[in-house]
Amino acid sequence: MNIEHIFNNNRQWIAEKLNKDPEYFKKLASEQNPEILYIGCSDSRVTTGDLMGIEPGDMFVHRNIANMVSNTDLSAMSVINYAINNLKVKHVVICGHYNCGGVKAAMQAEDMGILNPWLRNIRDVYRLHKDELNAITDEEQKYNRLVELNVQEQCVNLIKTAEVQKALRHQQITVHGWVFDIHTGHIIDMKIDFNKILKDIMEIYRLE
Ligand SMILES: [Zn+2]
Repeated sequence: MNIEHIFNNNRQWIAEKLNKDPEYFKKLASEQNPEILYIGCSDSRVTTGDLMGIEPGDMFVHRNIANMVSNTDLSAMSVINYAINNLKVKHVVICGHYNCGGVKAAMQAEDMGILNPWLRNIRDVYRLHKDELNAITDEEQKYNRLVELNVQEQCVNLIKTAEVQKALRHQQITVHGWVFDIHTGHIIDMKIDFNKILKDIMEIYRLE
């Protein structure tokens, strides 16, 4: 990868956009109206826009290692707050992916330094679903399942925030749990039953 290529590609991209619509950048600069907040992994292979055919301006994005929604993460919490309260997004997507290095690291007994507290959140997901995961003998399948359960638990963490609770009650907002299958390119909708989850967790986590 030659860094100069990036600038060449950029100039080419500008030309293509202007060729299709001379007003493209004027419109892009005027405002953003995304309907989707996407929370995904930082993994370089999961290129959000490309794999969904999403154009600039369509999606508000937050990415971190293993698509976590940690309530002490000021960055993630600010993104969620702004997307819901100001941008009024209609959908929040948490998208994990198979072969996630963050999830894999959390399955191993290894001191990862500064990453320890971050990966601890994934170990907590494992602990919550220990019986199901320990019953899976195939390591690859277990790893895949932890990726899925991590998405589900991050959706639960999302519902624990005051912003999402308020939005679920007063606006039309839908939370989605997806997994990107890196082996085939497909996005899999986990079809998580949020009404059930909501009922289960609201007894304890209701904020308003
Ligand atoms: Zn990942």
